[in-house]
Amino acid sequence: MSVTMPKRWYRSRRNQIVIIVFIAASIIYYISLSDSLQREQNLDITRRQSVIEYIERRLEQSLRQDKGSGCEIPRLDPFSKEVTQFDKDIPKVMCLGTDWVKCYHSKCRVVPKILSTTKDIVCSYQDIIYESDQKYTIGPPTEVRGDNEYVLTKSDHVKVKCSGKHRDSILPSKWTGHSIGFRSTVHPDLPPPGREDSLNVLILGFDSTAKNGFIRRMPKSYKVLNEILGATILNGYNIVGDGTPAALFPILTGKTELELPDVRKKMKNNRTLDDMPFIFYKLKDEGYRTAYFEDMPWIGTFQYRFNGFKNQPADHYLRAFYLEESNSGKKWWKGSQNKYCVGDTPQYKLMLDITDQFLRLDGKRFAFTFIADITHDDFNMISIADEDTAEYLRRFHDRYREDTLLIVMGDHGPRYAKVRDTLQGKLEERLPLMAIRLPEKLKKIRTEAEKNLKDNAEVLTTPHDIYATVLDVLDLTQFTNTYRVKGADLNRGLSLLEPIPKNRSCSEAGVEAHWCSCLSWQNVTDDDVMFRRTAAALVDFINHLTEEKRSVCAVRSLKSVSWVMRARPNSGVLTFVEARDQDGYVGKFGNKVKQTRENYQLKIAVGPGHGIYEALVTYVITEDRFEINTREISRTNA
Ligand SMILES: [Zn+2]
Repeated sequence: MSVTMPKRWYRSRRNQIVIIVFIAASIIYYISLSDSLQREQNLDITRRQSVIEYIERRLEQSLRQDKGSGCEIPRLDPFSKEVTQFDKDIPKVMCLGTDWVKCYHSKCRVVPKILSTTKDIVCSYQDIIYESDQKYTIGPPTEVRGDNEYVLTKSDHVKVKCSGKHRDSILPSKWTGHSIGFRSTVHPDLPPPGREDSLNVLILGFDSTAKNGFIRRMPKSYKVLNEILGATILNGYNIVGDGTPAALFPILTGKTELELPDVRKKMKNNRTLDDMPFIFYKLKDEGYRTAYFEDMPWIGTFQYRFNGFKNQPADHYLRAFYLEESNSGKKWWKGSQNKYCVGDTPQYKLMLDITDQFLRLDGKRFAFTFIADITHDDFNMISIADEDTAEYLRRFHDRYREDTLLIVMGDHGPRYAKVRDTLQGKLEERLPLMAIRLPEKLKKIRTEAEKNLKDNAEVLTTPHDIYATVLDVLDLTQFTNTYRVKGADLNRGLSLLEPIPKNRSCSEAGVEAHWCSCLSWQNVTDDDVMFRRTAAALVDFINHLTEEKRSVCAVRSLKSVSWVMRARPNSGVLTFVEARDQDGYVGKFGNKVKQTRENYQLKIAVGPGHGIYEALVTYVITEDRFEINTREISRTNA
């Protein structure tokens, strides 16, 4: 009997060739990578630190141009044809059936309507238990008969199966569903001495909701915000980056994504968001009960691109509930009729109801509720929530106006919708809804706060300011982020309770040029020489990037130019001399200064095929050359 020795895998001729080819390809790829990166002003996009430095440099550079120049907030008509052409009327969402079980706070029981028609009811309750953002478990079943209650202790949410005998039917009736409440076992820490009565906070957010979009599609709610609550709606509230995280990181931590640990999924480092300085943690130490409610967990703000949390960041957190209820999103993707419903209730309404229940708990409270399902795919959908939201806000006013800060906000405007193809749509993307109502108690103590807030409605403001404002309202300014853009006189994030200088500019507030709506973007007509030149420069640049891959990547050629816009720094930038008063509130203006750089935005189509690109291109006037960066190009039909 012969014994065969196991053959070493790398001794095989075929495997050796594979290894050599792999190493050679890696070297070629690396060379091509470093080569194309060198041409980008030494920006190594594979290194996070270099991106941070790059952005800081850019801000510092543009601060030299726009410091003290203030912000010309674009005056956009919410009802202009350019945007209303995309409005559609959406029928109300009808959620069928009747949920047998509802929970209120820690008690769940069969609803009277079912009890009055059905006998011999037996319900089996199973807790939906959060393990981590990626995992939850279903607890063991507990049977409860008739009108007896089930008390939530292990989690805030349950899966329920019931059966009984309906009076009009000989067959047994059955119901399966989910319910949410608040487990009785959460006991917030004792507040530090003297901090027992600090104020409460409710932040109610809607995904993809521009200020103008809210005015158009949520007229009743807007009216309640304005006329009943007397909320201040910020006209110069500008995003600081792309997408939901770019708004929520600053609002909830006071920092940008880049300033926080790198927890992107693609880094494969298993780091989670748990050690980031979220406001939830600070407030827990302050004796607050906290809630973070977000729907659509399969595209969660902190889970879609990031590793999510290992432990729930707030006392009350619906991630496990929604993962179970939506079958990890399958309910949504199957496009079933009831995708906007949880049982017999529209999902947005469930979010409002559970937020209301939360506010009725005792002790100090902080809630962040973020509704995405009705705005994410089609902004027109939000209109179905108008009446309920208006009603909710009215109730809020009756009950909580004394001691609760209210913020109703959007994270950014429409991003994928057709409306973004219009100039106004682009600006609306950068100008989300931000409505703030100060608690009465605060107005009595800080007598100038309300006036300052109203004045600040016409000044450039950002998500960083919202974080600073919440801390100020809660008397926790020791946690304020005092970061300043290099060369700036003001902190990046400023409390809205204090006067914000009118001459605050985008770069001083940490807003990069391409997000800054303050600049007046003027249409460049096709007889302007820059119309073709900027488009040609962009096509050249795209070809340049793919040069190393020429064998697989065809040379692109310009098919058409949709539009080109030229950013004129607002007239203030060109004429600003210095501050007129010591506080720097009012600018002193003189003759126009000569411009050395011009920013352009443009949208082009290239062939072969039909790639559509939007980009920011800088023209260095003095040297007659263009500067383009991959970070500032986006392919919009990919
Ligand atoms: Zn968003």
